[in-house]
Amino acid sequence: MKIKVKDIPASGTEFSESISASSLDVDRDYWMLARDVDVDIYGERIADYVSLKIRLFSKKKIVCCRCLEEIEVPYELSFDWQDKVRDELQEIDVDELVRQEILLNIAVRELCSDTCQGICPECGGNRNKGECNCAKD
Ligand SMILES: [Zn+2]
Ligand SMILES: [Zn+2]
Repeated sequence: MKIKVKDIPASGTEFSESISASSLDVDRDYWMLARDVDVDIYGERIADYVSLKIRLFSKKKIVCCRCLEEIEVPYELSFDWQDKVRDELQEIDVDELVRQEILLNIAVRELCSDTCQGICPECGGNRNKGECNCAKD
């Protein structure tokens, strides 16, 4: 969605949209959007500036870097964006702001949980699913 600066009154207003996961094109091998992204936006003017508060809601599918399990978890992100108003007809490309913010926030590694036990180096078994026999030698 593109928002025109002139459509944001000084008193503030809300916008919302849903962006398809495929059009955002942010997926990588261990991190994927599992559904479309719902976007809530609050826009307002502060002096010569236009300000947006943007909240994203979706689901992400991640591959744990320790145990290699694939899991789906809720995905939420919020951020603020501001720019000086140069022209009332200026357009703000919200989809592109959202895309860049998602990319900035993708972790280098994902974990299924902070306590993930990972994979046994001996047998390759997932230690979250119980002790393997290797430990008992
Ligand atoms: Zn894990
Ligand atoms: Zn083992």
